[in-house]
Amino acid sequence: MIMKNNSFFILVLNSGSATVKYSLFKADNLVLENEGIVERIGLKGGVKNHEEAVKKILKDLTQVKKIKDLSKIRTVGHRVVHGGEKFKKTTLLNKKKIEELKGYSKLAPLHNPPNIMGIEVCQKLLPQAKQVAVFDTAFHTTLPPSSYIYAIPYKFYSQHQIRRYGFHGISHQYVSERARETVGGKISRLITCHLGGGSSITAIKNGKSVDTSMGFTPLEGLVMESRSGDIDPAIVTYLITELNFTAQEVYDILNKKSGYKGICGKKDFREILKIKSKDRLTRLAYEIFVLSVTKYIGKYIAELGGVDIIVFTAGIGEGSWELRKDVMEHFKFVGIKLDQKKNKNNSLIISTPNSKVKVLVVPDNEALKIAKEAQKITK
Ligand code: ADP
Repeated sequence: MIMKNNSFFILVLNSGSATVKYSLFKADNLVLENEGIVERIGLKGGVKNHEEAVKKILKDLTQVKKIKDLSKIRTVGHRVVHGGEKFKKTTLLNKKKIEELKGYSKLAPLHNPPNIMGIEVCQKLLPQAKQVAVFDTAFHTTLPPSSYIYAIPYKFYSQHQIRRYGFHGISHQYVSERARETVGGKISRLITCHLGGGSSITAIKNGKSVDTSMGFTPLEGLVMESRSGDIDPAIVTYLITELNFTAQEVYDILNKKSGYKGICGKKDFREILKIKSKDRLTRLAYEIFVLSVTKYIGKYIAELGGVDIIVFTAGIGEGSWELRKDVMEHFKFVGIKLDQKKNKNNSLIISTPNSKVKVLVVPDNEALKIAKEAQKITK
């Protein structure tokens, strides 16, 4: 069905190195009209480049789906991973802003260049539309210096911008707002656990991120599917000086060959859950992940001086009742009680009515959050 002529749209794009995910929302009420993904960009069997990928999406939207003519897309919301210290909020893009943004590519060499490519392709193919950048780092720009400065010589921060930035900010902000709306009342202290392929935990006070587990890059923090998370930094120099790995090889080991994949060879968490009772290293990988999540929640309860709401989101956070149960077991001492039936059903509120802390499962919806931000800034 073709939409009525007076409908305008917001297109949300998440451009990665080899994929572009898209979601199309009605501009007035943010109803999702369409979504999809173009994969294998630049790879065998896929389209040549990002421009071809976006052309394919636009062709699909006009020929097969909802839009009669492309001038109905008035706004494009782009997920941009790194906004550095400069981009503290959602930004309406112009030539100058895009140039500034390019300056941050060295801080996120895998993510920002494809994000920027997506923006430039849309400027060309949808010249009538406003381009809006929504940053994964922006929510964390409220971190106090005591959370974001590393205890290395200060000049590495002042001269080279080496500091904690934090990521998954769009997700942490979205689920924390949903959780506050759901519970209502006076809520000041939240801990949001984004547990997926990449995982991070954020401490939120009065709506602001005050600490988060990912750091200068997404490598720091929790154990993840193929990232190590926190390790003794001296391991890095040991691998280079004693075991003769190059810096690039160490980077690849820590980002792509570590985490639970490094321990047990498996990175799909559903598979880990299925066979952990039969395989020692898989069980160990699971236990290490549970402990890693537990430690961060514990740290952040202390940092916040208590907690009112804990939120689980993303693939594992939303899907694994067992992980939630095994983590929350550690927090009986702060009065957390899970309703086991609700937990098994992945219900929105999984704590009992008399639990001292509310525990929620909130489905992540980054695309909707980006559309909301884009709608707000272009109104
Ligand atoms: P990404 O971070 O790549 O966007 P997701 O948030 O989709 O990923 O999370 C992917 C991870 O979530 C995978 O390890 C997958 O096995 C796990 N996962 C997805 N559904 C479930 C489920 N029902 N139970 C446990 N783990 C799940």
